[in-house]
Amino acid sequence: MTIFEQVKSELNMIDVAKFYGALASHGMCLCPFHNEKTPSMKLYEKNFHCFGCGEHGDMIDFTAKVFGISSVDAAKRLNYDFGLHIDVDKPLSAEQITEYQQRQSERLAYNQWEKSAWKSIIDYSRLLLEWRKKYSPKTMAENHHPLFVESLMNTDRTDYLFEEFLNEDKSGRLKLKQEVELIEQRLQQYKSPPVKRTHAAR
Ligand SMILES: [Zn+2]
Repeated sequence: MTIFEQVKSELNMIDVAKFYGALASHGMCLCPFHNEKTPSMKLYEKNFHCFGCGEHGDMIDFTAKVFGISSVDAAKRLNYDFGLHIDVDKPLSAEQITEYQQRQSERLAYNQWEKSAWKSIIDYSRLLLEWRKKYSPKTMAENHHPLFVESLMNTDRTDYLFEEFLNEDKSGRLKLKQEVELIEQRLQQYKSPPVKRTHAAR
């Protein structure tokens, strides 16, 4: 076991967050990484996730970020502050370091994906809502605007994705990857639509 695993096995995220001043109740707390008045950071047993700014990680990442220190120093600090008596100065083997770095970079890649996936889902739901209002037909006879139709067709599914993303853990979120990609493509297409040929161009 590395010192990271040892520290994590001894502590839980809520205690760590409270100890370092994050006011927590019902598993939620005010995010120390962005400015907010209502709690949007969810605390799990070993991890945290902020639905406001997308910050995410375990108690060691949390501590490292709060104090602006490295992961190793964060583990040492937790060890000291919580009186865990773990021998943190025992050097890690090369294998352990590689393994930890690998997991770390996988986690970073996942975090990045999660942040942008989360943003895409939110952006698309906002657009759908906007289109529903802006393009709703004024009379029964009027032809339906394609964006109004898209809003009718996709709002339920997008709401569902939103809920799933909120409630699921990492593996549950990853299952939504394909659908999130479709949303990203759609947003991309909407923001920079393919150039339409006009009469003048022909
Ligand atoms: Zn935040």
